[in-house]
Amino acid sequence: MSAAPAESIIALDDVRKVYRTGAVDVEALRGVTLRIERGEYVAVVGPSGSGKSTLMHILGCLDVATGGTYRLAGEDVSDMDEVDLADVRNRQIGFVFQQFHLLPSLSAQRNVELPLVYAGVSRDERRERARAALRRVGLADRVDHRPGELSGGQQQRVAVARALVTEPALILADEPTGNLDSSSTADILGLFDELCAAGRTIVLITHEHEVAERARRTIRVLDGLVQTASVGAA
Ligand code: ADP
Repeated sequence: MSAAPAESIIALDDVRKVYRTGAVDVEALRGVTLRIERGEYVAVVGPSGSGKSTLMHILGCLDVATGGTYRLAGEDVSDMDEVDLADVRNRQIGFVFQQFHLLPSLSAQRNVELPLVYAGVSRDERRERARAALRRVGLADRVDHRPGELSGGQQQRVAVARALVTEPALILADEPTGNLDSSSTADILGLFDELCAAGRTIVLITHEHEVAERARRTIRVLDGLVQTASVGAA
């Protein structure tokens, strides 16, 4: 077997996913082999039904493949059970979703603290780190606001702060600008540019061409397979 470079954040080998619904099997991923290295900024694009969400769920350890292997930051997660997957998600991945997924009754700071609560971090350290993450996304003056008191763009900044606060190996963003107007979209993409420049690894799923263009590499999913193409490669 050929060895993957040890430093690959994401190493998928011949990953397959079959959904069994009654008598019909749907082969959503048909053998995906893919490497993403530390510090890359990658956009995953493809038409509806091509397998993007399925790939995102597997990359995010929200679901496991039917076949093949997935190593995340050197750890084989292919056959993990739900408890171990939840642990890997908390340690290795920061999620940003289209719908923000903030808890409406909690302040921005408390929302950002949540992944640290699950990780068992002490209250003082949680507060300090959440405030630092909110400063990082330009919301130092909104720490006590609840989501309902913030604009859509600001809510997504809170979600980015929450994704960053655990210092994850990977930031996984699923249509992060899908609910934002053009000025908030520019804000969030600017933030991703900064995070990329600071060495973060970002994988962003999008169907919007102008969003995908901001990434350094585009991965196209078609009929359950990936076609990788470097953008701007020398
Ligand atoms: P995309 O995100 O690119 O629109 P998906 O990954 O959602 O694509 O879907 C890929 C294929 O798998 C489609 O044919 C879809 O109908 C099928 N599929 C997705 N999720 C399920 C599921 N939970 N059960 C059965 N089929 C599914």
